[in-house]
Amino acid sequence: MRRKNLLFGTTVCLVIFAVVVWLFSQINARIRRDAILEQVDPQQPMVALTFDDGPNVRYTPQILDILYETQTPATFFLIGEKLAGQELLVKEIASSGHEIGNHTYSHQNLAKLDCLEIRQEIQKMQETLRNILPDYTIRYLRPPYGSYTQEVEQTADIPLVLWTVDSGDWEEKGDAQPIIQTVLEQIQNGGIVVFHDDNPYTVEALQVIIPALKEKGFQFVTISQLYACQKKG
Ligand SMILES: [Zn+2]
Repeated sequence: MRRKNLLFGTTVCLVIFAVVVWLFSQINARIRRDAILEQVDPQQPMVALTFDDGPNVRYTPQILDILYETQTPATFFLIGEKLAGQELLVKEIASSGHEIGNHTYSHQNLAKLDCLEIRQEIQKMQETLRNILPDYTIRYLRPPYGSYTQEVEQTADIPLVLWTVDSGDWEEKGDAQPIIQTVLEQIQNGGIVVFHDDNPYTVEALQVIIPALKEKGFQFVTISQLYACQKKG
């Protein structure tokens, strides 16, 4: 009986050890990825893919994988209160060469807040991110629901970024096809597409959208890269 218990105990320990080693190697493989470094050619058509409402523990890693495999830089507008517990994921977004933008601390409609509340929503997100990435400077704000007033613009110390193509992924309940169709039909040079990294259909749609746009000659850029090219042009 004692020998049996010993054998069982040893087996359990070995399995736990193997699982820990495997998990560690998976995390290590992600962290050690090189940053995506695409040369931007201002003469070629370009598009900025943006992802709102993350980080999402389930879907953000899947999107990061697709972006890495296709060497596609993008911009993630993160919600401050969702950063807690997702420190590794946030670091991975930045170290992969993607841009991080401010999507406020608790995703409130800024147009309905007073000046002090607007400032708090913006600053609290920045402070939360600074605790994870002390040297990172956020350059753009995307107001939740695309809703803002002149007061929001004046209170924010960074420019607001909306979008030119709404992928509609937030209203899709079960099908990636309409997302694919919307983006491919509406995309134009200099376009900004809004997605949400919180559902499986966005992940599925991206697997078609990215190669299709590359085929059409589009290059992918972050919001900062897009605006830098537009200023020069
Ligand atoms: Zn949002």
